[in-house]
Amino acid sequence: MRSISILGATGSIGASTLDLIRREKDQWRVVALTANSNAAELAKLAREFSAEIAIVADEAQLPALRDALGGSQVETGGGLVALNEAAARPADITIAAIVGCAGLAPTMAAIENGGTIGLANKESLVSAGEVLMASVVKHGATLLPVDSEHNAIFQCLAGNKLSQVRWITLTASGGPFRDWTHEQLALATPAQAVKHPNWDMGAKISVDSATMFNKGLELIEAYHLFPVGLDKIRIIVHPQSIVHSMVEYRDGSTLAQLGPSDMRVPIASTLAWPLRMDTPCEPLDLAAIGTLTFRAPDEDRFPATKLARQAAEAGGATPAVLNAANEIAVAAFLAGHTGFTRIAAHVETVLTRYTPPPPASLDDVYAVDAEARVHARALLELV
Ligand code: NDP
Repeated sequence: MRSISILGATGSIGASTLDLIRREKDQWRVVALTANSNAAELAKLAREFSAEIAIVADEAQLPALRDALGGSQVETGGGLVALNEAAARPADITIAAIVGCAGLAPTMAAIENGGTIGLANKESLVSAGEVLMASVVKHGATLLPVDSEHNAIFQCLAGNKLSQVRWITLTASGGPFRDWTHEQLALATPAQAVKHPNWDMGAKISVDSATMFNKGLELIEAYHLFPVGLDKIRIIVHPQSIVHSMVEYRDGSTLAQLGPSDMRVPIASTLAWPLRMDTPCEPLDLAAIGTLTFRAPDEDRFPATKLARQAAEAGGATPAVLNAANEIAVAAFLAGHTGFTRIAAHVETVLTRYTPPPPASLDDVYAVDAEARVHARALLELV
């Protein structure tokens, strides 16, 4: 029997992870399940999986969580300290699936415990890349990428050496607006942006996918996870989302990982690593799919990947500023406060207005993140 904690259990990645665990319930012991404010769903999951502890980050929801778990054996907690303490509880694997930089502190708590972390929360790695990776080494933790592209690269690198890599190619679906004109993009609505053609995901990552910031964040994520140098990491648009990423070696061999557009595949690969486990996903029917197409990204209509590459090149605090500004702009777009094409424009402006020195510690990263949010909100006139 193995033990697992899921940070962000009520979200899309959390649900996909629990779907796999549910199918092998006798093989898993659930330690911690966490949410932000969805106490009702968290309590339901905590009861179903007999979790040791359930945590809501939003402390105001703790009474509701306690009520909903009344009479059960599940411990409860609320607030950020409780969240970090729960994340630090020993587990064979911790799935880091909180959305946004809010996932950084609990992910770091799990890393500092020296455990195995299945990382979906890409924003942590973007904001605190150097600090986080140094902590992984210092505490002997194992970081397994859950993001489908990085999980694909991880699989393609197995048994090979990074020094032999010529290219890492991240594939991008291009999102729901990949064929839209500038004029159409300017009028895109939140409802259209969250309707991804291939993947069923949370709202924030769906918008990121539509702007291509998702691929930009993934570029920075790949840069930290697979240190081959930024100049060897490129992006290609692949609308079918069947090839999840590729690694080309110096001899001209390209290894790719293919699979259905279902996050349960990379999650299963992470949960079972270094073995494999069954999933309920449909087998890949390439004859039915017929055609796989690829094209270069259009950074004129979707400048996010260019901004992310520049931020990664600049290094230091710049990726954290990019991430924070994007989180604020996406939330503003989803709330109807700004337009779709303004998201990248806002991020670019914040990057030029706020240029803090490189963070040396986690506290520095939090400070940069907080200050970048202030700048982003002021620019959007949200304050
Ligand atoms: P969702 O929005 O579906 O879920 C987010 C989870 O995080 C929920 O459990 C939510 O709780 C919790 N949460 C939100 N805000 C906070 C906070 N401030 N403090 C603590 N917990 C919080 O997101 P996804 O599952 O789509 O994405 C999660 C992460 O995985 C993201 O970083 C995303 O980029 C990454 N990812 C997602 C993929 C996908 O297919 N969805 C694919 C690859 C990567 P509550 O329900 O209470 O709000």
